Amino acid sequence: MNTHLNDLYKELSINETILDFGNTIEQSLKSRFDDIDQVAEYNQLKVLKAMQDNRVSDIHFAATTGYGYNDLGRDTLESVYASVFHAESALVRPQLISGTHALSTALSGNLRPGDEILSPVGKPYDTLEGVIGIRETKGSLAEYGITYSQVELLPDGSFDFDGIKNAIHERTKLITIQRSKGYATRPTLSVTQIGELIKFIKGIKPDVICMVDNCYGEFVETIEPTDVGADLCVGSLIKNPGGGLAPIGGYIVGKEEYVENAAFRLTAPGLGKEVGATLGITGMLYQGLFMAPQVVSGALKGAIFAANIYEKLGFSVVPNGSESRHDIIQAVTLGTPEGVIAFCKGIQAAAPVDSYVVPEPWAMPGYHSDVIMAAGAFVQGASIELSADAPIAPPYAVYFQGGLTWYHAKFGILMSVQKLFEEKLIHF
Ligand SMILES: *Cc1c(COP(=O)(O)O)cnc(C)c1O
Repeated sequence: MNTHLNDLYKELSINETILDFGNTIEQSLKSRFDDIDQVAEYNQLKVLKAMQDNRVSDIHFAATTGYGYNDLGRDTLESVYASVFHAESALVRPQLISGTHALSTALSGNLRPGDEILSPVGKPYDTLEGVIGIRETKGSLAEYGITYSQVELLPDGSFDFDGIKNAIHERTKLITIQRSKGYATRPTLSVTQIGELIKFIKGIKPDVICMVDNCYGEFVETIEPTDVGADLCVGSLIKNPGGGLAPIGGYIVGKEEYVENAAFRLTAPGLGKEVGATLGITGMLYQGLFMAPQVVSGALKGAIFAANIYEKLGFSVVPNGSESRHDIIQAVTLGTPEGVIAFCKGIQAAAPVDSYVVPEPWAMPGYHSDVIMAAGAFVQGASIELSADAPIAPPYAVYFQGGLTWYHAKFGILMSVQKLFEEKLIHF
């Protein structure tokens, strides 16, 4: 059996030394992988129970068109999301076209001129700079008289409680907390840490809305931010909770009033959640959510495997090989342009789709330097599928995430090592 497997790896261009090296690392991670499986088992049952409690039936997979009045499948899916997140209400829609759009909708639905947003965890994700107006942008919240302030994390990554206390005033309406580090260098927050932060903030101002950008965090732990006091929790369906099957979509879950405010912004004031046809994709949103705990566990194993492989090869990795995990993103600092290019070529060569394409750095709009991206995905841009990207600029770090199955993530990482080896950037 094993020799057949090794033959297949060889046919797929992974040499034996690299495979042995990978297998040794994998062996050393057995107990961590067991822990991940336990989280997945818990989350699988949590999702299953939510589906049973809401009496999901095949009638819910039927398509609606036009206004989409009385779309039973859509409304029930939203109840399932609310159950999974232990929240009052949810908005889960294909009309939310990305995570940024879902966050933008939650913000603009709940803020009015004169209100202030506070980020107590430093700078938010790049695309939110335009939404908030940190970077001057047409239609930003700043243009509507909504102000923004930010408190940096302390150098050790902890919260600056004094700074946060000083930043909260009578106009502070909404606190935005980003769970994942995204493509920054700070640590990702655990749900428990987020809970401590919310408790502190509510102690100062009980009626402030605490919103969590949950992108890349769903199902990594057994609890979600809504379990620790978040009023709103927002994410993308082409990341974790879509389980690789959702072809589009975003979600906003939380307090009924705040979710409704967001719905009034997504559709129209007075219409809210009552409209929005689903055009036949609801079945995939249900099935994707059902698969998500398992898919996230595979991606998480891939991230930990990559951290340990590249740490062993002498590169700096964030998070490191032994840290606990709160999102599925892995950063590897390869230190040279050739290194990040070889890494991305490996991820691309391992893909089920477009594996024969060779990625090249290019001047992507909105970035300061050339960027290289690798993805051969079934759903365009889905970063729950195995993908990697890197700006061609110091410190030459690549950000890597996803993998619909652990076996594919493993193969992709071995292929990245293979490409670095072929370019003589590493030696065995
Ligand atoms: C992906 C992501 C977003 C939203 O990005 P989209 O590409 O618009 O879905 C927002 N915040 C974080 C932390 C993210 O990782």
